[in-house]
Amino acid sequence: MNLILLGAPGAGKGTQAEVIERECGLPQISTGNILKAAVKNATPIGLQAKSFMDSGALVPDEVVIGILKDRIAEDDCKGGFILDGFPRTVPQADALDAMGVIIDKVISIEVPDEKITKRLSGRRACPDCGATYHVEYNPPKTEGICDKCGGKLVIRDDDKPETVIERLKTYKEKTAPLIDYYKAKGKLVTVIGQEEVSDTSKLVLEAVK
Ligand code: ADP
Ligand code: ZN
Repeated sequence: MNLILLGAPGAGKGTQAEVIERECGLPQISTGNILKAAVKNATPIGLQAKSFMDSGALVPDEVVIGILKDRIAEDDCKGGFILDGFPRTVPQADALDAMGVIIDKVISIEVPDEKITKRLSGRRACPDCGATYHVEYNPPKTEGICDKCGGKLVIRDDDKPETVIERLKTYKEKTAPLIDYYKAKGKLVTVIGQEEVSDTSKLVLEAVK
């Protein structure tokens, strides 16, 4: 089964992708996490991507499409995968088609703009393993420490208020059109994001079945 999680930044795609990974045994592929690791390791792709990411813009399609293609060719993707943060543009969706990838379902997590801003400001991320938390909605067991790997949690540069505004604008312009794109293909399932992460997870898992 190949799934796509769609949604604005802060809608909870990453959190829900982790839940599906755990419950369904499908690997989660986050282009955002792959890019962030590339930036951290100062690889050629990372150096190329950094300025786009820091300003809240998208990394050019050809770069991200190349990354995705390599990732889904790996062994753990043979039985399916969950795409978190890809595609983010119509050309990226067309590229998936061109690769011969059959998408079974696209889960669109919808959250009102006001809530998005509140969520992003409370977000904390693990720089070591990429896991994300929220001080209020999804706190780690120990404050400031990653449950998974013990890493020290941080506020991401792109969660700064001015960058958040830019990321939301980019989402509306470039990514939101994918909702209609997949609706037209009969693949779209809409999930309304709930106050409690676990309530959203229930709806997401129902949508996956
Ligand atoms: P978000 O919280 O905005 O969903 P991500 O961790 O998914 O953040 O991605 C971080 C940044 O990486 C994005 O703001 C964007 O610059 C870049 N990025 C991630 N995925 C893509 C993609 N599919 N296409 C273009 N840029 C991407
Ligand atoms: Zn961690």
